[in-house]
Amino acid sequence: MHPEHHDRLEDNPPLDGYTTELLADLAQPLAIPANPDAERRAEVRSLYERAAGGQLTAPIITLFSLLLELHREGKGTPADFGISTAELEHLALRHQQIDEHMVSVGGRLTRALPIAAAANRRVDEYLAEKGTLAPSGIELWHKILANKARIMAELGMDEAAWNSFPGQIRHAVDSVDTLARLIDLPRAQLESIAKVTASYRMRLTPYYTSLIMPGAVNDPVMLQSVPTGEMIENAGIEIPPVAADHSPARLVDQFYPRVVTIKATNMCAMYCTHCLRLAHIGRRDQVYAKEAYGEALDYIRANDRIRDVLITGGDAFVLPNSMLRWLLGELDAIDHVRLKRLGTRIPVTAPMRVDDELLDILEESNDRKPIRVVTQINTAQEITPVSRDTFRRLSKRTFTVLNQAVLLKGINDSRVKMWKLCETVQEAYVRPYYLFNCSYRNPQFAHFRVPLEVGRDLVESMYGNISGDAIPRYIATAGGKIPLHRSNVVRRSGNDIILIKPWSEEEVSYPDADPEVYANARFAFNR
Ligand SMILES: *Cc1c(COP(=O)(O)O)cnc(C)c1O
Ligand code: SF4
Repeated sequence: MHPEHHDRLEDNPPLDGYTTELLADLAQPLAIPANPDAERRAEVRSLYERAAGGQLTAPIITLFSLLLELHREGKGTPADFGISTAELEHLALRHQQIDEHMVSVGGRLTRALPIAAAANRRVDEYLAEKGTLAPSGIELWHKILANKARIMAELGMDEAAWNSFPGQIRHAVDSVDTLARLIDLPRAQLESIAKVTASYRMRLTPYYTSLIMPGAVNDPVMLQSVPTGEMIENAGIEIPPVAADHSPARLVDQFYPRVVTIKATNMCAMYCTHCLRLAHIGRRDQVYAKEAYGEALDYIRANDRIRDVLITGGDAFVLPNSMLRWLLGELDAIDHVRLKRLGTRIPVTAPMRVDDELLDILEESNDRKPIRVVTQINTAQEITPVSRDTFRRLSKRTFTVLNQAVLLKGINDSRVKMWKLCETVQEAYVRPYYLFNCSYRNPQFAHFRVPLEVGRDLVESMYGNISGDAIPRYIATAGGKIPLHRSNVVRRSGNDIILIKPWSEEEVSYPDADPEVYANARFAFNR
């Protein structure tokens, strides 16, 4: 634009209602006339000179904002500071002219800024508490390093053993006695854990153990990995294994015509206290024979509706690289299989497993057909600089990394914890995908379950407050995945739909598509 154009104010749209109102308010005489001192007057006058002399919007807003405040507090009108209404009008027009979107002073000051301030208040509590109530493993890193040093000394591990997957598995913590040496637990707790671990397998990698904050009551990482007495007390009612109803072939689970899972192993690096597959996972490590995989592959090969194959477990990354290379190669060779997923918690339980060879295998297969890595992170505490870096490398070599969290009491069932989890996950190159309601099928973890309304609040409260692509879908697993979100369509009013803003509960009217226009088959190039 030609520079001279800036001074042709008469070309501008006129001042809007917000601004004329603002100017009228400022022109109102005070109930008790003020007489500001010379210093104050010089100060305001110099702000005016700066606003009038520049090409920036902020000094104009600062000036109007100060004038409004002084007027409201009875400390003086613009005239008292030697600024005329004509000068203010000129400045207001100038603001509109500078601003690319022609936002007026009044609009910005009396509408947009208060709206932004109200929105800010929605996150203030979260921002104040997220560091203390839900610290991430990145924020706790110095403590984790201290834990690591203590654990390495207790277990007799050196750096090389710590940084290798076999070292992590060889030194895995699977007895109460060892656990007691690594984290301080009260005696009574130890006895109860000893009883539970007679029936339920406990295994923590030394790395995952280092994420537990000693002395914390119900540390969220410990809750996920160290079984407690409730598991036995709750075990009363047995519910039949989930898999039977949905396993059309060996190792295969199928809920949907286009998607199947291959349960490629029953092993995990760490065994979760809330594991949905408690009945299959972690009793005894099993290595499956090639013919078992062969039968699963035959089923997929023979069924050309199947387009997406999930390799799960257990934990897909427990499989040796050679096995993963083979399995992915077999799937890539099936024409109708178009995408793959790998389910793994290893990036948070034993990130050292993700070596360059594995990354090469993933990239090679991803170049043929997209691979998504699907992980499970339930607390921000599980994201450390090490796991974040692992996810960064995985996300570079695959299509995407997705998180399927489980909603668990005491672990992530508050707004602060859930928001922090989702933000931290996203900052670690992972997309929040699902938030699973903790299953009713395993009575062993009834004590972890969270009511529907709480879960809904956690998820709904994220809308409008954190990035849309950091918000997971809230899901019940009941022979397939069923969304649990509440509807934001409240009712109809004529052809309008009444919607509710999840972040403020405010209702808004939203015109629906005109049904007559929609019914007209002759449109666009077809008229
Ligand atoms: C979770 C799951 C899927 C995948 O479901 P999406 O909604 O596609 O993520 C497929 N099959 C089984 C058996 C599953 O448990
Ligand atoms: S990683 Fe998954 S399969 Fe393994 S124990 Fe945990 S929840 Fe179960």
